[in-house]
Amino acid sequence: VHAFTFSLFHFMTSEQLFEKAKTLIPGGVNSPVRAFRAVGGTPLFIKSAKGAYLTDEDDRQYIELINSWGPMILGHAFEPVERAVRDAIQYSFSFGAPTRKEVEMAELIVSMVPSVEKVRMVNSGTEATMAAIRVARGFTGRDKIIKFEGCYHGHGDSFLIAAGSGAMTMGTPDSPGVTKATAHDTLTAPYNNLAAVETLIDANPNQIACLILEPVVGNMGCVLPDPGFLQGIRDLCTKHGIVLIFDEVMTGFRLAKGGAQERFGILPDLTTMGKIIGGGMPVGAYGGRTDIMNMVSPAGPVYQAGTLSGNPIAMSAGLAMLTYLNEHPEVYERLDTIGKRLGDGFRDSAAKLGLNYTVNQIGSMFTLFITDKPVTDLTSAKTSDIPRFGRYFHAMLERGVYLAPAQYESLFVSTALTDDLIEQVIAANEESLKAVMK
Ligand code: PLP
Repeated sequence: VHAFTFSLFHFMTSEQLFEKAKTLIPGGVNSPVRAFRAVGGTPLFIKSAKGAYLTDEDDRQYIELINSWGPMILGHAFEPVERAVRDAIQYSFSFGAPTRKEVEMAELIVSMVPSVEKVRMVNSGTEATMAAIRVARGFTGRDKIIKFEGCYHGHGDSFLIAAGSGAMTMGTPDSPGVTKATAHDTLTAPYNNLAAVETLIDANPNQIACLILEPVVGNMGCVLPDPGFLQGIRDLCTKHGIVLIFDEVMTGFRLAKGGAQERFGILPDLTTMGKIIGGGMPVGAYGGRTDIMNMVSPAGPVYQAGTLSGNPIAMSAGLAMLTYLNEHPEVYERLDTIGKRLGDGFRDSAAKLGLNYTVNQIGSMFTLFITDKPVTDLTSAKTSDIPRFGRYFHAMLERGVYLAPAQYESLFVSTALTDDLIEQVIAANEESLKAVMK
């Protein structure tokens, strides 16, 4: 009874807003996972955020472990980014014409991301991946693509086949509205399974335009590539003339300043980027080898455009963010330390309680899976106890820690997480695990 009154009182404004939102917006949200369907309850409506904290409409504060699903890697309202946006707005918000900032942004991205020689800005990760496969198809003259089960590449039709994250959480891996013809051109393999990829390639000779993957998966929870997997994929793509696309929308500028490709030392042909690249503004990008990128209109015949692409305010935020990351390599050491301490702390707490749960962690990405099986692909991720995850999520929320509201998501830490806060999160995790053991 006590818990019930507590929650009613504390989440009242969010509940009222959500009730109204549901009458106006499908499911009450502008992106499905936000609706808390996978964990039950009412989503928190957020009023503001600063550093490591979110504040909801009921004025409750939470320690952040999602950080806008990745972008806020230096914490919320990071001053250099805020200042850049304030400076930029006095010159108007959009021109639909080239700007100096876009040139600076392109130059910075090319200097930071090892395989990128030319880059095109778009407005989201979804746009980046949709454009990248079109370019790969135009470049190779082939139609089919390979993706991995449980990898999410945005909501483009071609990718809503065995997509992870929200699509999986919502139980609609194959969305109505995606035509059979589109689905026919998307081939899928289990993650970390090179033999399955080879079988697909052999069965579709000279028909595969590209292979796209998350070099570290965030969208079935955090899943790491097995040693040799990325190199094996690189070799297969090179051998068969398949354009290799690393979807670094999550990992880019996060696992290293040059993303997963820098961290693992494996270079794709094309890279898709998003999230951090906009510093919290709606930005995406795709880039890669000059010969492939020269296919893009107006340099080449593959059409891709955008009224707000390279938007000056968004570019200012992104430039400030990337410039800071580029000039402060210690950020990545700190993120690795924070990630490791949380990962180890979560693992230790589970072990102490006799729960042999799996914690996958690399750098500032990690997931606690409510399963005692190792998680290396979608099938193993699905051994997780989803109802128990829901209870665990709410136990964490009650203790002031805001997690991604679904098991099949990676958490993202920011540099705003101080040593004190790390300890608080580890303690909250232990109490929460204990509270939901039965
Ligand atoms: N690719 C990956 C790996 C992602 O994680 C996401 C979003 O979470 C996307 C693409 C789509 O990006 P956006 O949501 O900006 O369209």
